[in-house]
Amino acid sequence: MDELTEEQVETFRKNLIENRKILTMTIEGETESSKTVELDQSTMGRLSRMDALQGQAMSKETKQRHEEGLRKISSALSRIESGDYGYCLKCDEIISVARLEVDPAASLCISCASLEEKV
Ligand SMILES: [Zn+2]
Repeated sequence: MDELTEEQVETFRKNLIENRKILTMTIEGETESSKTVELDQSTMGRLSRMDALQGQAMSKETKQRHEEGLRKISSALSRIESGDYGYCLKCDEIISVARLEVDPAASLCISCASLEEKV
């Protein structure tokens, strides 16, 4: 497989920065809405409070997933800086462009990633 060209890396870098912007805004919104739930609890009935807590737990999970995504993007961007971008963190193989197009923050090649998922 071929190594990434500078233009390809630049395209992925732009995508990553764009994704980071969107995720950061999403997380900010989620932080705001979880605050609202806490404030409303005192004025709610027991059942709606349970609903709210359930919703809060779910949105907490979503938020954690988004924060994880943000960490992945940041580390991908620092790999671009250091010139390690596009190489598998585990086996040092080249990560295929097709895979990076799906997820520019991917840090593992397809075979290492599928091994991770099985564990
Ligand atoms: Zn690998």
